Amino acid sequence: MTAYADFYRRSLDDRNAFWAEQAKLIEWHHTPNSICDESRPPFTRWFADGTTNLCHNAVDRHLKQRADQPALIYVSTETGAERTYTFRQLHTEVQQAAAVLRGLGVKKGDRVLIYMPMIAEAAFAMLACARIGAIHSVVFGGFASLSLASRIEDAAPKVVISADAGSRAGKVLAYKPLLDEAIRLSKHKPEAVLLVDRGLAGMERSTGRDHDWAELMQRQRDAKVECEWLASTDVSYTIYTSGTTGQPKGVQRDVGGYAVALAASMKHIFLAQPGETYFSTSDIGWVVGHSYIVYGPLIAGMATIMYEGLPIRPDAGIWWSLVEKYKVTAMFSAPTAVRVLKKQDPAFLKKYDLSSLKALFLAGEPLDEPTARWISDGLGVPIIDNYWQTESGWPILSLVNGVQAQTSKFGSPGLPVYGYDVKLVHENTGEELTEPGQKGVVVIEGPTPPGFMQTVWGDDERYVKTYWETVPGRMVYSTFDWGIRDKDGYYYILGRTDDVINVAGHRLGTREIEESISSHPNVAEVAVVGVADALKGQVAMAFVVPRDASLIADDRAKLKLEGDIMKVVDDQLGAVARPARVRFVSLLPKTRSGKLLRRAIQAVCEGRDAGDLTTIEDPSALQQIRDAVAR
Ligand code: ATP
Ligand code: MG
Repeated sequence: MTAYADFYRRSLDDRNAFWAEQAKLIEWHHTPNSICDESRPPFTRWFADGTTNLCHNAVDRHLKQRADQPALIYVSTETGAERTYTFRQLHTEVQQAAAVLRGLGVKKGDRVLIYMPMIAEAAFAMLACARIGAIHSVVFGGFASLSLASRIEDAAPKVVISADAGSRAGKVLAYKPLLDEAIRLSKHKPEAVLLVDRGLAGMERSTGRDHDWAELMQRQRDAKVECEWLASTDVSYTIYTSGTTGQPKGVQRDVGGYAVALAASMKHIFLAQPGETYFSTSDIGWVVGHSYIVYGPLIAGMATIMYEGLPIRPDAGIWWSLVEKYKVTAMFSAPTAVRVLKKQDPAFLKKYDLSSLKALFLAGEPLDEPTARWISDGLGVPIIDNYWQTESGWPILSLVNGVQAQTSKFGSPGLPVYGYDVKLVHENTGEELTEPGQKGVVVIEGPTPPGFMQTVWGDDERYVKTYWETVPGRMVYSTFDWGIRDKDGYYYILGRTDDVINVAGHRLGTREIEESISSHPNVAEVAVVGVADALKGQVAMAFVVPRDASLIADDRAKLKLEGDIMKVVDDQLGAVARPARVRFVSLLPKTRSGKLLRRAIQAVCEGRDAGDLTTIEDPSALQQIRDAVAR
């Protein structure tokens, strides 16, 4: 057996010993004796009799050895702010913020909703909650009133922390009016609202309810607030899924299991060493921001970069200039961001010294081979695709290079990560598919590993029903993704189970067709959906963003490109996979986190209502689809 195969087997076969070992990567107040409690499946309780604290592990723990090393590096190309906080300074800020929250009556178990732009105060607020055992619920700052209102209602926070405004591409986006409207719409009313005033937009304040962050922090200048020792199974936070396939689900996460999972992943997957610098380009509103902007890097004793701004402003070299300046060793981003860079001059990838960078990790969406090759050749660093979900909190499929250096394969996020008993099953019979090349639903056999969601917030029944009772005949966690495994055990994600297309009895993943189409040189981006067809059951429809729009200036040119694209699919996958139509648009409908909204595209194609669109980035993209379909 190889070193990783052995490591992986032990994580499942000798679960308690394996995770007791990993648990030593964090500091406990009371070291757990109970490791994996699986007495009430599918609910798994990790390190149940242990007590610890996320903030202690992210901040206080490092004061002994690295108090004056950088912890949080805040960079905003929107406001020009740039500031480094050492672990000592972070400790001070977080204690102050914790004292402010206590002063507003926040106690252990109370919810605090954080609706903030990417500013350092947002990280202070999260860590302050963790410190006193309050449950944070971070809501992405780009959401408008309606999305925010439903989350306020669901989390029922005692306090909301927000700011006057965010900024995107130099355009100020006022938050306060959106927040006021959301509170008005919500049946639940927070007792207090704490506001960071960035001086970007004026704010109307509601007396008695609204408080000024800077003023209250100033009053707590010398505050000392010790970490509250929490049960490992206490709730650390709730966070909502991206809403790509329907209504977002409120994911609830624990304390101890999460801390251990992150510490272990930093070491084994993200190649972390204390004192190094981590740069994740995500947003604190998403799970990547929780795990790999705030908690993971800090728990590992690394400096973490928190970046507010676009990847292409002031120019497409901005991220790489930060890598050079702060000697970033590990970087984490998403394919959607790489596709943005792909439309820019590749010379920017070569302009800065990237010798500190060990790898670029990408997750969130399928990484097509042309995009992976483009960024890998351009940067000259390994690209590591990793597959996971808000629900899991950390990678499910990846290469685990910290245990054993492994070969990556384009198009595959790699192997099951230790702790995850990943399987492929037949979606109708539930039968396990063991032969290489068989397509099926990607599922996880319980018990779920540390860091995995505990349940749906406030709704155990919904957790069981939604995730564990969908595969006939067996109780397994469904990822709702469709995949395939090759003879070496590498997985390939073929699309969402909802997106599987059934053409005259042939089952095709949207991803397979998209991957094929995107190999055409004039395709920048593509979305494929299955559309009901009287004859064939379903046919594929493709919406393409051309790389060079001038090549499809008239109808003849469009027809020619459509034909060329169909030919590419014919040659690569066969005529069954050929899209019935290829339509050209300048923009595809995506969620705020950059995921293709295939279900909305499909609904429009089939003349149905587009469904829940509260997480859509730009509604005009969907209008383009409507127009293209109407033509
Ligand atoms: P919702 O669950 O609300 O519909 P969502 O599934 O997009 O939204 P997330 O938890 O943000 O919410 O995304 C997880 C999903 O993203 C995965 O289930 C998978 O479909 C996709 N995904 C993530 N990483 C990868 C990857 N490396 N390759 C392919 N797909 C990925
Ligand atoms: Mg999902």
